[in-house]
Amino acid sequence: MKFFLFLFVLLFGSYAQAYDVDKVVLSSLPTYVQKDKDSLPFIFSKAPFDKANYKASQRFSDHVIWHKIHFPTPNKAVTVDLQMNNYLIDDLDFYFLQNGKQTEHWRRGANQTWQNQVAYYNGIWIQLTLQPEQDNTLYIRKQSRGPLLTPMQLHQNADTAITKLSTTLFWTIALTSVLVLLAFNFIIFLQFRYAAFGYYLAFHCFILLSLAMMMGASRWFFPEFIHHWLIESKVTLFVLAAWSLYRFTVGFLPTVRVQTPTHRRYWVDCIFFAYLLISVFFSEKISAILFIIMQVSMIIFCLRYGLKSYREGFIAARFYLFAIIMVSIGSSINSMMYWDIVPFNNITKTALPFCNFLELLGFAIAFTDKAKQIELNTTLKIQTDGSTGLPNRYYYFEVLQAKLASMTHSDLALVMIEITSHSQLSQAYGPNQAEQATSTLIKNLDNSLAEMDSVLSLSLPNNTTRKLVRISTNKVAFICVSKQELAHQIESVQRFLDTPILIGHLDFHYQYNIGSALYPSQSNTLDSLYQNALIACNYSRVDIGTWQPFNQTLKQNYAHQLHLLTLLTQDLKSGCLYFEIQPQVNLATRQITGGEVLLRWNNKQLGQVSPGEFIPLAEQAGLICKLTDFVIFKVFKWAAQHPKLLENRTLSLNISALDMLYEGFAARVISLQQYYQLPASQLVIEITETSIFENSQVMFDNVNRFHKAGFKLSIDDFGVGYSSMQNLIALQTNELKVDRFFVAQSLTDKSSAILCRNMIQLSSEMGIISVAEGIESEEVALQLEQWHCLIGQGYHLYRPMPCEDYLSLLGS
Ligand code: C2E
Ligand code: MG
Ligand code: MG
Repeated sequence: MKFFLFLFVLLFGSYAQAYDVDKVVLSSLPTYVQKDKDSLPFIFSKAPFDKANYKASQRFSDHVIWHKIHFPTPNKAVTVDLQMNNYLIDDLDFYFLQNGKQTEHWRRGANQTWQNQVAYYNGIWIQLTLQPEQDNTLYIRKQSRGPLLTPMQLHQNADTAITKLSTTLFWTIALTSVLVLLAFNFIIFLQFRYAAFGYYLAFHCFILLSLAMMMGASRWFFPEFIHHWLIESKVTLFVLAAWSLYRFTVGFLPTVRVQTPTHRRYWVDCIFFAYLLISVFFSEKISAILFIIMQVSMIIFCLRYGLKSYREGFIAARFYLFAIIMVSIGSSINSMMYWDIVPFNNITKTALPFCNFLELLGFAIAFTDKAKQIELNTTLKIQTDGSTGLPNRYYYFEVLQAKLASMTHSDLALVMIEITSHSQLSQAYGPNQAEQATSTLIKNLDNSLAEMDSVLSLSLPNNTTRKLVRISTNKVAFICVSKQELAHQIESVQRFLDTPILIGHLDFHYQYNIGSALYPSQSNTLDSLYQNALIACNYSRVDIGTWQPFNQTLKQNYAHQLHLLTLLTQDLKSGCLYFEIQPQVNLATRQITGGEVLLRWNNKQLGQVSPGEFIPLAEQAGLICKLTDFVIFKVFKWAAQHPKLLENRTLSLNISALDMLYEGFAARVISLQQYYQLPASQLVIEITETSIFENSQVMFDNVNRFHKAGFKLSIDDFGVGYSSMQNLIALQTNELKVDRFFVAQSLTDKSSAILCRNMIQLSSEMGIISVAEGIESEEVALQLEQWHCLIGQGYHLYRPMPCEDYLSLLGS
C-alpha cells in the first residue's frame, strides 16, 4: 500500500514542481551568535546575521546560535520541506516569519509528536508554505553541549516522499540488522558463556544505543527524557563502549592464542574510569577532545593486536581484525564529521551504521569460527589423553567402532601393552614425575610406530594421526592391520621398551607386559577384542616383557576365577566354609603334639574346592581378611568350648602374609584370644613367605605384638618361593615348616635330601622347632627322625580330619 502511494506521489509530484528549492543556498547561511539579553523581536528585525559566522557555528559552542534562511518569493503558494538530520543538538527551534510576522514555531521539527501518534520515524521535518508576494524567512535557533552541526536539505513533493521513505527504510534496516546480529551473538554467548563475550555484548548494546540516538530512533524506542539523557551522556556512552571493546579484546585474543599484556590491564581500567568521570563532570567539548585521544589509542591498540593475530593465521582472529578496522573507520568518520573535518553528507552520515553493521558481521563470523574451534577442542579433549595427546579409551570405544566397520581387513590384532613399573615410579618419584616419564615414553613409542604402515593410523578431529591409544595411565594399545606383521611389530616395540631411559640419575628399565587378541576371528566386537587383549596382557608370567597372544583357555580361566570369587563371597555368609584339622606328631614318640587348621569349602554347585585354588584368589581380590577373620573366630570359639584341645598341644592357624600387612591385625586376634581365654603359647601363626615381608613397619609391629602376647610364629612352606633367611630373624620365628616338596623327595633326590637335612639342622641350631610337612611314607618319617626333625605332618601319619574326629582322636 505504502509502495503504491509512494509511486503515486513520485509520478504526480514531479508535475507539481514549480518552485526550485536548489536556488535556496543552505550551505553558508547568515548566522548570528546571540547575546544574553537579545529579545526575539531584536533577533528577527535588527540582529546582525552574517555568513562569516556560519563556519564557526558548526562546531562546539556554549552560545545560542541562530541561522536565517530567506526564501525567494514564489509566484504562487508553494510547499517546501526542510529536513535537518542532527539529533544530538539539545535545543532546536524553528520560527517561520512571513512579511516580518511570526506565523509558526516548531520545537525540534514536526515529528516531536512521535510519542503520541506517528507510528514510524522519518526524521526532523519542517513543512513550510511559502506565500506569493510575501517575504518568507525561517529562523533556526540551536543550543547544545555537543557539536552544533546543522546539516539541512530542502525537498519538495515527490522528493520529500522519497527521502522520508528512504530515511525510514534506512534506520529500520540498520537497526534491525544490528538487533539481529546482537541476538545471534547473544545466542553464541549463552552457549559458551565466555566472560569476554559478555563484554562484547555490552559493546554491542552501546553501539545499538549510540546508533539509535544518532539517527534519532531512540526517541521512538524510549520516552523523551531517556532520549535526552542519552544525548547528554553520549560521550559517557562512547567511553563505556570503548572500555567494553578493550575488555573484550584482552579477553578474546588469548582464546585465539594471541597474548595481550595482562599486567597493564588494571591501569588501563583506571584510565577508562578517569575518562568516565571526566565525561560526566566536564563540558562535552573537553570530554569529546579526550575521547578522540582515547579513540585513537584504542584503534592503535586493537589494530596492533589484530594484526598480530592476523599473522598467527586464525580465521577467528582475522575476522576480529576486519571488525576492528570497520569500527575504526566508522567511528573515525563519525568523529570527523561532528568536528566538521569531513562534510556531513549521505556517505559520511551512513558510514557509522554501515561500518558497525560490517563490524558486527565480522565479529559474528569470528565468534562462529571460535565456536567451531571450541567444539573441536571439546571433541579433541573428550577423545584424547591430556598429557600425551594420544587417543584415549573413549576414542577406542566410541570412535574406532565406525572406522573398523568400514575396514575390510581379514584379521586385525589389538596389541595391549601394560607398563607395570609405572606404579613403582609413582612411589619413587611422586605421581607427577612418574606421569611425565611414562607419557614421554608413550609419546616416543608412538613416534617410533609412526612410520609403520601395518599399524593402523588413528585420525583425530584436528586432522593429525596417531598410532597408539592410551587406554589408562599405564596401558597403551595399537591395532596391527596385518596378522603376518604382528610378531615383527611386537618385537620392535619390545626393543624400544627394553632400551633404558634416564630418570633422575637412574638408567631405568621399564617393566611391561604385552598381550594381543585377534579381530574378528577371536573377538567379534571391539569390547571383546579389548577384553581378550587385556586377559592376554594380564596373564601372569615369570618373564617380564614377554608377549602373550590370547587363547580361549586364558579366558575360561578368568571367567572361572571370577565365578569362584562370586560364589566364595556368597558362601562366606551361608556357612559352606568349615575347617578340618590335620594332626602333627612328635616323630620320635609318634604322639600328637597339635594340629593344623585347614580351611575347607564345599560349594553346592562346585563341590569341594581346594584352598590351594581359592586362597590365592581371595588374596588377589582383597577377600582374604574376611576369610581369615572367619577362620580365627570359628576356631577360637571352638577351642574355647574344648579346653582339652590346647592342653599341652598346639593349634596352628594359617595366615596370609597380606593379613600381617594390616595395621591392628595382631591386636584384633589377641583381643579375641583374650576374650575366649585361650593360652596364647599353644597357638601357632603360620605365615607363608612372600616378598611383601620386606621392610614393612606394619608387619613388624604385628609380629612384635604376637610375640609379646605369647603366640608362636611359624614360617610355612620354607624353602620354596621367596625364601629369605632374613625372614627367619625378622619374624623371630619359633617354628619352621619344611615344604613338602623337599620332604617328599628326600629319599629319591639327593639335592632335596641335602636341603631338607640342612633346614632341619639350621632350625635346631637356631633353637627353632622343625616341622616336616607332607610325610607320605614310613621311610620318610624314619629318615626325618634320623635327621632330628622334631615334628611331622602328612597323610602317612594323619590326614586332615573333621574337628569332631580330631577331638575324639585326642580323647582316645
Ligand atoms: P599348608 O599350610 O602348607 O597346608 C598343608 C597342606 O598340605 C594342606 O593342603 C594339606 O592337606 C596338605 N597335606 C598335608 N599332608 C600332606 C601329604 O602327605 N601329602 C600331600 N600331598 N599334601 C599334604 P590344603 O588343605 O589343600 O591347603 C593348602 C594350602 O592352603 C595350605 O598349605 C595353606 O597355605 C592354605 N590354607 C589352608 N587353610 C587356610 C586358612 O585357613 N587360611 C589361609 N590363609 N590359608 C590356608
Ligand atoms: Mg600351613
Ligand atoms: Mg605348608
